[in-house]
Amino acid sequence: MANDNQNQVLDEQTDVVDEKSTKRVRKTKPKASESGSTASLFGIAPYQPKKNEEYMSEGQLEHFRQILLAWKEELMSEVDRTLNTMQDENTALPDVNDRATQEEEFAIELRTRDRERKLIRKIEQSIEAIKNDDYGFCETCGIEIGLRRLEARPTATLCIDCKTLAEIKEKQNNG
Ligand SMILES: [Zn+2]
Repeated sequence: MANDNQNQVLDEQTDVVDEKSTKRVRKTKPKASESGSTASLFGIAPYQPKKNEEYMSEGQLEHFRQILLAWKEELMSEVDRTLNTMQDENTALPDVNDRATQEEEFAIELRTRDRERKLIRKIEQSIEAIKNDDYGFCETCGIEIGLRRLEARPTATLCIDCKTLAEIKEKQNNG
């Protein structure tokens, strides 16, 4: 009887340990601990390709994935901050003039949030492209977008030529 109880306790303990270790694995974020600080776009040094390294090698894809993830995280916390600020300010009871200014500020913040949300979606699409091995190539003509352009614009889906052309067309359509 006593032995049975002891075995049961041991079993339960093993279960708990197992659960903890799997949880720890799932929650591990390698980049955050490596950089040691808040993940920031600028905290990641530009990629230095080795001689004869092929374009969009495993290392390069991982490099841009880390940038995109860090960027997304930063934007998400930005969105949270904006929401908190708006809630805080809304509790105050300003006079009419203050109220107009406040509404203007809210409108600006809402637009900013909208832009941020669109950017987050673009970032997610780029992360998806990395998964599918589509990342780094022009959507229109299929040539390499290039490391330098991607470092500056990690969400770029067009090469510089196609991008320029698209912008000219857009201007013509709007004007
Ligand atoms: Zn192109």
